[in-house]
Amino acid sequence: MSGLNAAQQEAVDTLSGPLLVLAGAGTGKTRVITFRIAKLIKHGVPRHKILGVTFTNKAANEMKERLTGLIGGSIGTKNKYKKKAEQSENEPTISTFHSLCVRILRRRIEKLGYPLKFAIYNRGDQESLARQILREIRVPDKALKPNQLLFHISNWKCKSLNAKQAMMQSESDAQHLAAVGFERYQKQLKLRGAVDFDDLLLLTEQLFREHPDVRQEEADRFDHLLVDEYQDTNTSQYRIVKALAGEHRNLCVVGDDDQSIYAWRGAEVEHILAFAKDWPDAKVVRLEENYRSTEAIIKYANTLIRFNSTRHDKVLVAARPGGELPIINQWEDETQEAEEVVRSISNRLNLHGREPRDFAILFRTNEQPRPFETALREAKLPYILVGGMSFFDRKEVKDVLAYLRLLDEPDEVSILRIINTPPRGIGKKSIENLLDRTVREKVPMWDMVCGYAERPKVTARVKQGLDQLAAAVNEVRSVAGNHSLVDQARMLIDKIDYKSEIDRIYSEPDDRESRWSVVEQVVNALADYEQSRKKPTMTNFLDRLLLGDQDANSDKEKQLKKNAIALMTMHAAKGLEFPEVYIVGLEEGILPHQRSLEDDEAGVPEERRLCYVGVTRAEERLTMSMSLTRKKWGKARETIPSRFLYELTDQADNPNYAKCSKR
Ligand code: ATP
Ligand code: MG
Repeated sequence: MSGLNAAQQEAVDTLSGPLLVLAGAGTGKTRVITFRIAKLIKHGVPRHKILGVTFTNKAANEMKERLTGLIGGSIGTKNKYKKKAEQSENEPTISTFHSLCVRILRRRIEKLGYPLKFAIYNRGDQESLARQILREIRVPDKALKPNQLLFHISNWKCKSLNAKQAMMQSESDAQHLAAVGFERYQKQLKLRGAVDFDDLLLLTEQLFREHPDVRQEEADRFDHLLVDEYQDTNTSQYRIVKALAGEHRNLCVVGDDDQSIYAWRGAEVEHILAFAKDWPDAKVVRLEENYRSTEAIIKYANTLIRFNSTRHDKVLVAARPGGELPIINQWEDETQEAEEVVRSISNRLNLHGREPRDFAILFRTNEQPRPFETALREAKLPYILVGGMSFFDRKEVKDVLAYLRLLDEPDEVSILRIINTPPRGIGKKSIENLLDRTVREKVPMWDMVCGYAERPKVTARVKQGLDQLAAAVNEVRSVAGNHSLVDQARMLIDKIDYKSEIDRIYSEPDDRESRWSVVEQVVNALADYEQSRKKPTMTNFLDRLLLGDQDANSDKEKQLKKNAIALMTMHAAKGLEFPEVYIVGLEEGILPHQRSLEDDEAGVPEERRLCYVGVTRAEERLTMSMSLTRKKWGKARETIPSRFLYELTDQADNPNYAKCSKR
């Protein structure tokens, strides 16, 4: 196997036992994982006995692609000669933690008192449940908003705390209220047979803890476990890894403590540093050469990260000498910043034979991309917003998915979403009455919609509306056995006349057309999914959509392959690389983020690591910028340059920095 240096080779050649690769950005950690999987296969380990885990779908897809290059086959990517369903049987599993947990729970969650067909709540579903709970416990909006409740709950869950423990830990009034809400929230979820994203990890952990037979069964599925970005594992993930690898002990983890950026999600960099304690016979390999970025960029990265006082000093030397000095720009306002970045990209596109996919614009917060989208559209440059307001957050998509959910397992959130969409005369009051009865008397809402269970007193108009909805869904359900999933979806969209909803909301023909095409894309995704499976089910399709899985998200993936400029947060860019990178909005309050400023000790270092992640994504050219003013609630305010700009240029030998000294 060529293309590995001595240290990398050593890691790849260590085929059994615990192995830790602790190394800086771009030193080939992910490369070690993929080469090692290839080597295991070459040495006769059955492909299906290998499990690789990463954090984001994008990283998982990249790993699949790199692997395909090494071992052939398809690993979930398309191959025109074989049906995908045949291929996936004997391939290594490359998965995110969350998808892995969904698969485990779909097999055995019954042991915890949840139905196998549990629903996975997305953000919107969680918000409506949170709102309902706050209403029930009569907490006014002033005291605690649904978003805040969810924020607290997620924080606790990421630290593996249950409601009782949360209650004991809470100090402020708001925390106390949130802990009360937490208990109800969890009860309600279970009652509805639903879980949220954090539960996926927690319940898997619990399942393993309380049911050793299940743990054994799941651990037996694989003989080798490899984990990328190990520095970002939270406590549940850490325990799940331990539970799965405990017997075979063939556990390879790779990570970089300087890139730990999820402490706010409960990740503990300690896990990576304590690896050698948990596995005393672990082999530790360090990699020092960065193959990704030029020396000029590495010098900046090293200068910046040294400002973090508590870290394990690591050597990071550039394998690519020289290179262009990073550029720092200061612009008048956020519009100009966006226009200039886009102008620079379009110039360079023509100059250096660069393609759109060679560029990334990285930002810190989700408010930032809008002016960039506008400028990119005006310049008619192809771009893709990765992980932002995703396709699946759009109203039309959510509506249609809720309808599809009804074909399978009608849960309250889905019913509430579409009960009067398109309008069928079912007003707020009637909906509340239905909900009330569901909550109080535990009558399933769908039974009331269909009239199988007694409905609360309703007017003739409402009765007609409910009958219409039930008839549309039940007609399709009754013939489901004879039709493909796609046909069922088409029939349902037709029967409920979803088109009328679009026509009602949008008056411009262009808007109507583009919204309707969004609905079409959902159907396309369903078709893609159905063709690629031996036993396709609606539940599985909806799960994959929710988790942003590759096949389901194929439209997004296709777009990315279509060669587009990537617009994404620094969190989402972890593990990726681009020839040219623009980091924008380097201002106090943005990067470092406002929230982190309240916690200088832990908050700012984490933001610094995030900035380090951003800087080390660049292969050849790095441009950083800030804007002198930025609008807040429509009003321009003066900004303060990010401390990281000063730190990055600590060496003060960069003529490009001169521009940034106005303040
Ligand atoms: P990050 O910390 O950002 O996740 P990483 O340590 O996972 O980075 P990789 O993404 O595996 O690093 O590698 C960075 C780049 O360097 C990739 O383009 C990879 O192909 C290349 N690379 C790694 N090792 C070598 C090598 N020995 N020879 C040539 N190229 C290499
Ligand atoms: Mg990597």
